[in-house]
Amino acid sequence: MTKINTCPYCGKKSLELREFETAVPFFGKVLIMTSLCGSCGYKHSDVICLEDHGPSKLVVKVSKAEDLKTVVARSNTASIEIPELDLRLDPAGQSQSFITNIEGILMRFEEALEKIETLRNSAKKSQYDRIRRKIELAREGKSPFTVVIQDPRGNSTIVRNYKISESAS
Ligand SMILES: [Zn+2]
Repeated sequence: MTKINTCPYCGKKSLELREFETAVPFFGKVLIMTSLCGSCGYKHSDVICLEDHGPSKLVVKVSKAEDLKTVVARSNTASIEIPELDLRLDPAGQSQSFITNIEGILMRFEEALEKIETLRNSAKKSQYDRIRRKIELAREGKSPFTVVIQDPRGNSTIVRNYKISESAS
């Protein structure tokens, strides 16, 4: 199915939106959406989970470097929280579904932090430096923390714990 929408970037009615439904491992039934603007070249793609299994809560405790390799599938409706680091990612706006490991989640927080820092300039620099240092220690496995993923539609899951061997999964 192809639709023509208004481009959020250049405002022209030349955004070609394609959608198709399919099923993938971990997320089940999904809608894959890609949009491309013929005028300015703006591109966006997303995977929207269509299933609803009711609210779920996943907790991953990270106490050593190996735990950072735990792989999670996070749907577009789930929030991610790391209480020890005061970090929270809400499924607002154009939130994407993704599969990554715990280290990948920390990197996403770092990227988000950089964006905020650029926007607000140097006013809160020391505060951002402090948070960044905390994330760095966490990425090195030197500071234990907990990752809490809450999904109102239950489409997020722990794909693989590091402890489980490849063959057993
Ligand atoms: Zn455009």
